[in-house]
Parts: sequence; structure tokens; C-alpha cells
Amino acid sequence: MRAAVLYEARQPLRVEELELDGPRDGEVLVRVGAAGVCHSDYHFMNGDLPIGLPCVLGHEGAGVVEEVGRGVTVVRPGDHVVLLFRPNCGHCEFCSQGRPALCWMAAQLRSTGHLLDGTSRLRRGGAEIKHFLGVSCFAERTVVPEQGVVPIPADVPLEVAALVGCAVMTGVGAVMNTARVPPGAAVLVVGAGGVGLSCVMGAALVGAQPVIVADLVDSKLETAMDFGATHVVHAGTRDLVEAVRELTGGEGVDFSFEAIGSPRAMAQAFRAVRQGGTATAVGIAPLGSELSIDAGELVYQEKTIRGSYYGSTRPQTDMPRLLRLYRAGKLPIDRLISRRYPLEQVNEAYRALLAGEVARSVLVPGP
Ligand SMILES: [Zn+2]
Ligand SMILES: [Zn+2]
Repeated sequence: MRAAVLYEARQPLRVEELELDGPRDGEVLVRVGAAGVCHSDYHFMNGDLPIGLPCVLGHEGAGVVEEVGRGVTVVRPGDHVVLLFRPNCGHCEFCSQGRPALCWMAAQLRSTGHLLDGTSRLRRGGAEIKHFLGVSCFAERTVVPEQGVVPIPADVPLEVAALVGCAVMTGVGAVMNTARVPPGAAVLVVGAGGVGLSCVMGAALVGAQPVIVADLVDSKLETAMDFGATHVVHAGTRDLVEAVRELTGGEGVDFSFEAIGSPRAMAQAFRAVRQGGTATAVGIAPLGSELSIDAGELVYQEKTIRGSYYGSTRPQTDMPRLLRLYRAGKLPIDRLISRRYPLEQVNEAYRALLAGEVARSVLVPGP
């Protein structure tokens, strides 16, 4: 099968034929229907975050189960599934606290580049190729642990389901699960890419008011208005914190969300919340980045700053709910998708993403 392989940081991905072994005990072979072009993969391509190489990238995907290994109980061949880049064991300390995004299982997959039995299913000419976060969906097919799939209704478009696997869950989940924004709360979202727009969708869904969105690209701000932003701020021409205070009667917002992964933007998002407010950092910053905030402001104003990973999701509960909201027309996930590319054009898809030309594009790997 064909897959996009990263051999070396800062080199283009190579789309080539690989051998994919069948699923072993507890594993599932999935034909990839769509794979989202997420900015997080770029951190690994660019060497900002370490990873075992060579590997097949892609962590935002959905597809159809073709084969299951022994002992698999959650899906059968023919089932449609979302792939999880944070699979969860269901019974460790964090899973039992309802925080499966912090499960040890995902950490193990990430650090080894292998599946749970410590081996890879991917080879090229006998040489091992590594998995990426247990997903590796920039490929026609992939083998994943059964804990890394969530079955979904077959009538949901796979490109919509793929986005639920990362951007949408991350953004909507940050608003609904991590920050628990109540109706009428004032919200700021910094960054209007796929995750930022998902925060906007989440804020609109819970009835936040106003929903202020900041970005550096005019076209992205226009898009944000389509997703429920009530006000936009061009952060290149205006001081963000000042603009937000102006729009909120001098006070600042109740909740802010940073969806870029820039410590500077996180600090602005912290300053832009009113006293008692909460700033939630959602974007993935490069390894070793440090965040600087005013320590007095933190205490005197009883502000909160917190991280949100994967929308603090409990995927088996949240993902079917998000898809139900999509089908009811309350979560316009399909409108995030501005372009579709064949797998061969993966490098072009990343060029367009980095140039700010698209909110989200998807790779359609084909048969
Ligand atoms: Zn992602
Ligand atoms: Zn666990």
C-alpha cells in the first residue's frame, strides 16, 4: 500500500509503496477514507518535536475496518471508525478519573513508534518503518490498536469523521469539557485555523456572547464570522488585549482559548481575560517553549491558566455526540474543509496550510 513517509526532519514526505502486515491480537486494520492535514504533524516534519524515524505521519483520520485480529470486540469488518491519536486503556488511574487523554497507553505508542506489543506493522524492503502516535493515517491502510478506534454511523462522511479525530474534538472539547463555558460567557479565541475555528463552533454552540476571534490573516477572520464569531480582531494591526477590553466594556473576556501554540499569544490570551477568568492553552508549542505571565495578575485577579489536550475528551462519549450535532446541523464541521488532495500531494497540502490558504484540507488516500 502507499503511504507518506518522513525520513528526515525538514525534508519533504516521500509517498511510496510499503508492506503492511495484518493485524495481530487486539489490533484492527483500517482502510483510510480521509486524513486531515493538521498543523501538529508539521512540528514533527520540521523537527520542533522529536520522533522516531522513518515513520508514516498522519494522526487525524477516519476509515472503514477491513480486518480484525484475535480478541477484538469493539468493531467488526465493515464498521466505520474515527482513529484516536490518544487511545486509552479504560482502566488506568487517569482513565478511571475520566481523563483518558492522559492515559499511559498513548504515551507508550508515542515514545516507541511501535504498536502495543513493541513491534511495527510497517516495512519497506525488509526495513522497519515506525508508526506515528498509533495512527499513521497518511496511508491507504493502517493497523491500529482496538483502543484507538471509535465506531461511528456509516452515513457520516469520512472526511467529517476524520476532523472529529483531532481538530474538532480538540477545539470543541476545550470549550465544552476543559473550560466548561456557560451560556452568555464572553469568549476570545486566538488563532482561526482548524482548531481555533472548532473553538469558535464550540463557543457558538454553548451560547457564548460575545465570541471574539483574533488572527493575522483577514480571510481567516472572515471565515470565523461564518462559524459564529461575533467580533474579529486583526492582531497584526491592533493591540489584542486593548481591542478585547474595548469590546467587553473595559473588562476582558471570561474565557480565552489559544489555538496556535505560541507562548506569546498564550500570554496575550491570559491578559485578555477579566479577573476571575480562565485562559486555556490549546495549541501545541515547540519543545522547550516557556510561557511568561504576570505573577501578580495571576494572584490578585484570581485568574486561571490551564492546558487542554485533545479537548479533555472521553472519546467514546464525545465523538458520537459531536457527530450527532453535525447531523442535526448544529456543528458545521464540513465547512471547515476547504480542499481535498490525493495522498501524492501531501507536501503541497502542507505548503498551503503554512501559507494560511486553508482552514483545513483533507487527504483522500484512495483505494
Ligand atoms: Zn492534530
Ligand atoms: Zn488508561
